[in-house]
Amino acid sequence: MKHTKNPVFQIDNLRSVLNGRIPGQVVIQYTNNCNGTCPQCSMRKTETYPRSRLSEDEICKVIDSAVRQNVQAISFTGGEPFLYQDSLIRLIQYASDRNIQFIRTGTNGYMFTNSDSIGYTDKIHRLAERLSKTKLRNFWISIDSADAQTHEQMRGLKGVIQGIEKALPIFHGHGIYPAANLGINRNTGGLDKISTKMTDKEVFYQEFKEAFEHFYQFVISLGFSMVNACYPMNVNGDDRKMKAVYGATSINPVVNFSKEEKIQIFQALMDTIPKYRSQIRIFTPLVSLYSLIRQFEGDEDFSIPCRGGIDFFFIDAKDGNTYPCGYRGNESMGKFYDLDIKAVKEKPFCKACDWECFRDPSEMIGYLIYSFKHPFSYITNGIKDSTYRNLWKKDLKYYRSCSFFDGRKPF
Ligand code: SF4
Ligand code: SF4
Repeated sequence: MKHTKNPVFQIDNLRSVLNGRIPGQVVIQYTNNCNGTCPQCSMRKTETYPRSRLSEDEICKVIDSAVRQNVQAISFTGGEPFLYQDSLIRLIQYASDRNIQFIRTGTNGYMFTNSDSIGYTDKIHRLAERLSKTKLRNFWISIDSADAQTHEQMRGLKGVIQGIEKALPIFHGHGIYPAANLGINRNTGGLDKISTKMTDKEVFYQEFKEAFEHFYQFVISLGFSMVNACYPMNVNGDDRKMKAVYGATSINPVVNFSKEEKIQIFQALMDTIPKYRSQIRIFTPLVSLYSLIRQFEGDEDFSIPCRGGIDFFFIDAKDGNTYPCGYRGNESMGKFYDLDIKAVKEKPFCKACDWECFRDPSEMIGYLIYSFKHPFSYITNGIKDSTYRNLWKKDLKYYRSCSFFDGRKPF
C-alpha cells in the first residue's frame, strides 16, 4: 500500500466542498436488459417486461453536460451493460476523452463462463486490452456468495467462478484490478447458512459474521484485490411513498431484511472488515456502518443525509430521465442535460434507503462539508460522537493508503 497523489484532492473538488457541495456523481443505467437469473433482482431474464437501452447519443449528451457541471464520477450500470460491449466501451472512451475522473462499470460475469473453451484466454485478453486503453477506473464483478455453486446457481451462470479465477491475472496483466461486488443476501455464506428469519440476535449476528469472513477469504483466494458490499436494497419504512425505478430492488426474502436484522448484519460486517483490510482493499467505510446501525437503533439524526438529487443522480434506462436515485421514481428531474445542478437548492435530507453508492460517499464527504462549513457546531448526532469521528478518520487514512480505490493500481 502506498500514498499517491489523487484526483480526489483536485482544487475544483475542494472548492465544491467549501461551497457545501460534493463533486457530482451520475449513475447511468445504460440498459435494464439482463441475462442473469438472480432471485434478488427484478431485472432477471425471466421477468417479462419490455427491455430498454439508452442510445449512445443520449448518453454522450449526458456526459457532455456532466463535464460542464464538474461531475467527477460516472457509472455505467444495468441490467448487464456488457451485453452491448462495443457500445459500452465507446461510451467509456467518450467519458475518458472528456476527463471524467471516476469512470466505473461492472458485470455479472457472463463472459467468464465456458472458460475451458478454446479461445477463452484470447477473448479475455482482448476485453482487458480494450478496457485498459480507456480511463475506466473501477470494474466490478458481482459475487453473491462465498460458495461458488451457490453464486452460480443464483446468477444462472455455470462455471463462472472458475472463469473469473482465470480472468483476474489477465486483467491484472493489463493494469486493471477488478473489484468483487457483493450484494448482501441470505446466501452470502452459502446456501442455508443464514436463518430465513432472525429469531435470536446473537445467532443471526454470528451467521453473518461467519458469512462475511468466508466471503472475504473466498474473493481473496480467487485473486481479487478489491471488494465492495452493497447493502440490502429494501427500503427502510413501508410508510415512505417511494417508487423504485431501479429494478435491482426486489421483495424476495433473500435480500429483504427487517431493521433489527440489518443492525446485526451491519455490526457483523463492521466487526469483520478490520481483519481483512490489510489483505484486500475494502470500499465499505466503517463510519457508514456505524451510522446506519445508530439510525436503525432509532437515532434518525445520527447519520449524514444522502446527497441523492442534490449532487448524485440516477438516469433510468426506461425513459432516460434523471431521478434523485434509483428509489425515488416519483421525482423525475427531467433530462440531465437540461438540469442545472448548481441551481438545486434543496438541502440534503433523505435517509430512506441504504444504497451504498450514494450513502457511503454522502457520509464520508458530508462530514468534510459540515466540518468546513460549520466548524464550531455539531450538525448531526454522529458528528458529536467521538467513536464516529474516530472511525471517519480511520476510514480516510485507509482510503488514502488504498489510493482511494484506484482500480488501475495493484494493492
Ligand atoms: S443482479 Fe445484475 S445480473 Fe442479476 S438479474 Fe439483476 S441486473 Fe441481472
Ligand atoms: S437515501 Fe439516497 S439513495 Fe436512498 S432513497 Fe434517499 S436519496 Fe435515494
